[in-house]
Amino acid sequence: MAFVVNDRSYDPPDRKLVVICLDGSADEYLDAAFDRGRMPRLREIAATGYRGLARCAMPSFTNVNNTAIVSGAPPAVTGISGNYFLDTTTGQEVMMNDASFLRCPTILAAAGGEGSRVGIVTAKDKLREILSSGLTNGITVSVEKAAELDMSAHGFETAQTLVGEPGPSIYSADASLYVLKTGAALLERNLADFLYLSTTDYIQHSFSHDEAGALEFYTAIDKWIGRLVDTGADVALTADHGMNAKHLPDGSPNIIYLETELTAAFGKGINVLLPITDPYVVHHGALGSFATIHVPSGLDVTTVKDRIAGIDGVTEVHDRETAVRLLELPGDRIGELVALSGRDVVIGKTPEHHDLTVLEGALRSHGGRYEEMVPMILSRRLSPDYKAKAMGDLRNFDVFDLICNGTEGK
Ligand SMILES: [Zn+2]
Repeated sequence: MAFVVNDRSYDPPDRKLVVICLDGSADEYLDAAFDRGRMPRLREIAATGYRGLARCAMPSFTNVNNTAIVSGAPPAVTGISGNYFLDTTTGQEVMMNDASFLRCPTILAAAGGEGSRVGIVTAKDKLREILSSGLTNGITVSVEKAAELDMSAHGFETAQTLVGEPGPSIYSADASLYVLKTGAALLERNLADFLYLSTTDYIQHSFSHDEAGALEFYTAIDKWIGRLVDTGADVALTADHGMNAKHLPDGSPNIIYLETELTAAFGKGINVLLPITDPYVVHHGALGSFATIHVPSGLDVTTVKDRIAGIDGVTEVHDRETAVRLLELPGDRIGELVALSGRDVVIGKTPEHHDLTVLEGALRSHGGRYEEMVPMILSRRLSPDYKAKAMGDLRNFDVFDLICNGTEGK
């Protein structure tokens, strides 16, 4: 049942396949847990299967990368370049949180169309809607609506009855565990055989890799990864983006208020849009290391670009054409410029725009280059061809290619 999606072909082996997107899991989280003996199952999988690094899609945001992963394609193809974009025809900032903004078919929908029994489990419900685009006969579950979504067509009432425990708060470690528990239940009850499981990065926004909160989380995650592998499924694990501390030594967020700085230099009219903005602001206060800048027609774009490039903490600034080529972004959903900031720096709009009181603890966030490299682990060895490929510029959105086409014993 080979199929082609977005000019790439997929020929899945006759086994159950599980792809896990472990949200915000920079490789150091796994290293820290491995070093302390907290993830024996995943460590074993990495040793006998494959472990490497892959580069995510930019900006290193959640929806951007989940969409890229299920499409096997970068944002230039998917159209999902953030949670928000400025519709220049209306002047409105538009939230890209439903499937109408997705510009391509997904691997999940195509696999379902070829007869795979697809299961999609996400923490956040908005992501479930985008990821299940075009899927006509699969099982789609979100932890957020574990008690509500009617699953009677699939032989169980709700995700809650399937898992056997109430759905947890979205702001918890349990939200991510619940994703894996639901996945394990779908496999163990033989309800699905082509799964995409996407967790949430609440823990990574809260804890660095060596803090107890993170180590406990990965210990629990490991048990459920073991459960998934024990069903006999091939499991692949990657992440949407990494995570870094973005604060000063005193714990306050390390912010460039870019619109404020540009207004001081050029007057009003420049609009700095932060596409990390979403309803889950507790995680990051709408502060990440990526911004797109709309420059009014009266101003010279290169002059503004040079000004931004001179700001301490900005690591890259590109005009639209370069951003499309270098960052694989859809040109009509970004501004005249895009800017990225350093490992410990975020880009804000104006001080008034951000409610820093919503932040729980010191700011940890993502969005830029320093959150670009993410783990790639497979429970089965790669074929020689794919091993060679993985040594090149492997992307996190190659994960379905690897698990469908690239493992030994096909
Ligand atoms: Zn994420």
